[in-house]
Formats: sequence, C-alpha cells, structure tokens
Amino acid sequence: MQNREYETKGIILEVRNHQDNDGIIKVLVDGGIKFLYAKGIQKPQSKNKLNMPILALVNLEIIKSKFIDKISTLKKAKIISFFPLNPLLQYIYNSVLHFLNYINNKNLDFKKYQIFLDNLERYPNQSFSLVLLELLRVYGMKPNFDACVECKNKNNIIDFEFYKGGFLCKQHSSNYKDPNYLRALYWLEHDFFRFVNEFDENISIKINAQMIEILNSII
Ligand SMILES: [Zn+2]
Repeated sequence: MQNREYETKGIILEVRNHQDNDGIIKVLVDGGIKFLYAKGIQKPQSKNKLNMPILALVNLEIIKSKFIDKISTLKKAKIISFFPLNPLLQYIYNSVLHFLNYINNKNLDFKKYQIFLDNLERYPNQSFSLVLLELLRVYGMKPNFDACVECKNKNNIIDFEFYKGGFLCKQHSSNYKDPNYLRALYWLEHDFFRFVNEFDENISIKINAQMIEILNSII
C-alpha cells in the first residue's frame, strides 16, 4: 500500500462536486494537469475543502489508484500560499486561471508562482509580470534577456520586443526605447525584488499587456 502514496506541490484549478459528498479536483502539478478524487469534500467538517481555494499553491498527499485507468485519490491538501481575496485582483485572477488551464506536459516553476502569490497584494502589477513571464517560458515563448536576439551581441542594446523574442541591438532595430524600460525588463528576469523596488509600476502595466497579447495568440 505504502508505495502508492506520494506528495507533490500543485495549483488548484477547479473543485467540482461529485455524487453526494465527494469531489473531483483539477490541479496543475509537475508535468501538467491532473484530476484527483476527493472523498467527503462536501461535508462541512472536511479539512481538505478549506485547504483548496482556487489558484492556491498547495501540498498534496496523493494515493495512486491500483488501476492505470482510474484517477488517483487525494489524501490530504495543505495550503502553502493562497490567492488573496480582493476584488481589485479579479482581472489577474481570471487571466492566470485561464492561462494555467492550458499547460500540458510542462513544469511551472512553483517557487516563482509562490513569489507571485505572496507579493500580489503589495505589488499587483509587478507580481503579475513575474507570473506572465513564467507562463511565456512554459509555453516556449520566453524572450532573450541577455543579448540581441538577431546577432547575440551584448552591447549597444537599444530595443526590446516580446514578439521578436527579446533584446535588439542598434544594428537590428532603430526603435530606441527608454533605457530605464530596458533595465526593468532585465531585472524582471534576473531579480524580482530589484524590479519591484527600482522601477515604475507603469512599466509593468505596459509589458503585461504585451505578454498577454502573446499568450492569447498562442493559446
Ligand atoms: Zn543585433
């Protein structure tokens, strides 16, 4: 029996009632989306139910089914971080839930996702930038933040275009961008807290719109 049990981190995407007392849980774990059978989840005294708000990062104890074609059972869920209940964050909630629902055979960086959740109320747009960039990576669209995407030159960087794949040097673009904007993008990739502390929130709002446009075009 024991070797059928394992623990993993996951993000709760949906909790659906099933029969009289049970539920089916949709979670994003390493490798993609998985469904779990949750016994007794509709009972008022169910501890697991309280530990499964949508978009929370949770630790899951799972019991694999004896049969390959049957879904595994949730033994225990425990919250690591949750999405704050705040109507001002509804737009971010809807977008993130939408994009996470299409991840397949890929691993989301749960450490980055936790930083996103833990900083969301204080820095909503910047935290949103962090998770959108991670989503771009998961979907294979992560820009190059280290050199010109055309010639790999690290000098004379003057432009950044998400749709072209990252930084561009002055040989490969004539569109001079604000150096502060370019620095912000660099630090978003390399040090989130520097990105938050040193750069204007408006930069986040601007780049989030661009990242959402790319994600919408590929999903
Ligand atoms: Zn170049």
